[in-house]
Amino acid sequence: MRELYADIIIDISHEKLDRPFQYRVPETLAGKLETGMCVAVPFGAGNRLRKGYIVGLGDVCKFDPARMKEIAGTVRGESVVEERQIALAAWIRKNYGSTMIQALKTVLPARQTVKKLERRTIRRLMGREEILSLLGESRRKKQAAKGRLLEEMADQETIPYEWVTGKLGVSAQTVNSLERAGVLRVESSLSFRNPVKVEASREKEKTLSQAQGQVVEEVLADYDQGQVGTYLLHGITGSGKTEVYIRLVQGIVERGRQAVVLIPEIALTYQTLLRFYRCFGDRVSVLNSTLSAGEKYDQCERARKGEIDVIIGPRSALFTPFPDIGLIVIDEEHEGSYKSESSPKYHAREVAREVARLHGASVVLGSATPSLEAYYRARKGEYRLYTLGERLTGGSLPKVYIEDLRKELQEGNRSIFSRRFQGLLAERLERGEQAILFLNRRGYAGFVSCRACGHVMKCPHCDVSLSEHRGGRLLCHYCGYSQPKPPHCPECGSPYISGFKAGTQQIEEKLKEMYPGVRTLRMDGDTTRTKGSYEQILATFGNREADVLIGTQMIVKGHDFPGVTLVGVLAADLSLGVGDYRASERTFQLLTQAVGRAGRGELAGEAVIQTYQPEHYAVTYAAAQDYPGFYGEEILFRELMGYPPASHMMAVQVFARDETRGAGLASHLAKLAGDAATDTLSIQILGPAPGSIGRVNDIFRFVFYVKSKEYDTLIGIKDFLEEKIPSWQLSGESVQFDFDPMNTL
Ligand code: ADP
Ligand code: ZN
Ligand code: ZN
Repeated sequence: MRELYADIIIDISHEKLDRPFQYRVPETLAGKLETGMCVAVPFGAGNRLRKGYIVGLGDVCKFDPARMKEIAGTVRGESVVEERQIALAAWIRKNYGSTMIQALKTVLPARQTVKKLERRTIRRLMGREEILSLLGESRRKKQAAKGRLLEEMADQETIPYEWVTGKLGVSAQTVNSLERAGVLRVESSLSFRNPVKVEASREKEKTLSQAQGQVVEEVLADYDQGQVGTYLLHGITGSGKTEVYIRLVQGIVERGRQAVVLIPEIALTYQTLLRFYRCFGDRVSVLNSTLSAGEKYDQCERARKGEIDVIIGPRSALFTPFPDIGLIVIDEEHEGSYKSESSPKYHAREVAREVARLHGASVVLGSATPSLEAYYRARKGEYRLYTLGERLTGGSLPKVYIEDLRKELQEGNRSIFSRRFQGLLAERLERGEQAILFLNRRGYAGFVSCRACGHVMKCPHCDVSLSEHRGGRLLCHYCGYSQPKPPHCPECGSPYISGFKAGTQQIEEKLKEMYPGVRTLRMDGDTTRTKGSYEQILATFGNREADVLIGTQMIVKGHDFPGVTLVGVLAADLSLGVGDYRASERTFQLLTQAVGRAGRGELAGEAVIQTYQPEHYAVTYAAAQDYPGFYGEEILFRELMGYPPASHMMAVQVFARDETRGAGLASHLAKLAGDAATDTLSIQILGPAPGSIGRVNDIFRFVFYVKSKEYDTLIGIKDFLEEKIPSWQLSGESVQFDFDPMNTL
């Protein structure tokens, strides 16, 4: 192909110019241009020279040749920073598949004027002792909200107003009454700088434990010797990981470089932020979803100008235009939110490694339940593994019981609570302790199992669970295999074969029926829809204004509740039934986290896991809190079936208005993919099949999977398909790629 024409984006943040313009490549530049390069082009009526990025090259003229302008010349990026960002966009495009525009938009912050917002702050007007005595009084009077505010104020001079009314769930009236009483003052300021402002107060340095100290020393020593690498920190919640991150960031900042700290949005608690603010004061900033585009852009500008050293945020914080990153931390690296769900579907863990390569930085991953990917790499020696053993704040691991629901049914217990759980809960209520009831709702969408023997209907080809669809057919979402739902269990002949159908609301009702007077709170998608309700529920429970918190996976993360001494997990195996190769991994993570919620305080905890599959390794190892044990079994399954991380897998997703056309396109692409592989033995194609939700908003979804040991083979197939796609008459169809997918389509 001769590269005669170039598609160029003039300005990615200008809405009207959000498309490529075609320019002629002059003789002098022939063969010298590449996608992602920065060029100068004449633009508009006045032909003013503007800077643009090349997003495509080709020999097809898509425009009136007589009126086509010519590229004036190449320009070096405005700065090293910009050149690195463009290189990163090109890397993302290549490795995950998307247009260059999408990749640039992911990486470069959109220029936005910053609206100066009025920010209100609450300043305390009394000393700590006085606040504490008021706190005691409000506790006696059971004024919970007031208590929450006073408790915060005891530690801080100022608190952001939005945080008090939002996260703390304190009403404006309560704030006003305290202002009238002279306890505090509401101040407003025009600020657009730090989203949260806290005076860095001198906190006495903790002496690191031996295990913590070793990590900090070795990572920094490697860094000083120019041996940057990737490290995996495996340690339960409370084992001191955050403290290690802070010390490492300190070390890097002292060496004159910057650090990026990724934290999943849900774990981005005020407590964690405070610890960073106390260390880095004004030199740290936070990116989160509550910031406007303008505010985000402002944070990027500050980073570019060297006004901050540390940024904390979700996966997009990776693209902060720091001049010289020395360290990237990814906390809770196993979290699904590190994978982008829109094109380019990149994973922060991999992109972090590339950013680190471009800057010469180290990467530190942390988790209580590492992803199979990270642990696999650590085992192969690509990452250095560290284990932090104990909880530093005391509290022991809970005693865990696995209750077999098949046995409960056999022995006449038709309730959704096992007899063991009923007994333990009654004890808690009597003693005034708290309990958490976790309903594992993942995979609610119709997997089918036997109530009598626990047998799960699985695909004979892919070894993942089949899902029930309308009309009673069972379907595999990887390969499309389908069969009618059997009337009796194929294992034991029982007619009790079905899905699980209880929600948190029914559970709450049952609980109230069995334990009259029990105070319950419910946390799920329904009760947390409004802003601030999530924090409010947690705060209410934390203040012991309820006995039992019932909820879906969102309750297993985040806050610590010292009053909780019992955790019940209902239907632990539901998430095992998701038609997805990560089902066991997710189940293990959820159960480990859930079980770990019990016994965070002085009192010992107990946990009950109810399941139809008590012998499943994800259940038994979670009960034992044994990560290496789980990993050992799970990796055998991945290796046997060729699933990541033992192999790589690319999902090709087709979206179509017309069902027949969509299905046709998917099969055609799948066939092409097969032809594209030079050595067909090295790849395996599954499907195509309809997506697990076959139609969303009248768009039909189809997907097929390509497996290969080599990631590059998959990239080659993606490039080949991408090259073919523009020449087809796509009308109402689109194609996306998802590498090593976290979810089925
Ligand atoms: P993680 O991030 O693994 O959950 P943290 O770093 O938050 O763990 O530590 C848990 C608790 O232990 C925090 O309250 C923290 O202040 C405290 N902590 C951490 N390291 C030490 C230490 N070396 N000495 C005393 N307390 C510590
Ligand atoms: Zn059965
Ligand atoms: Zn299958």
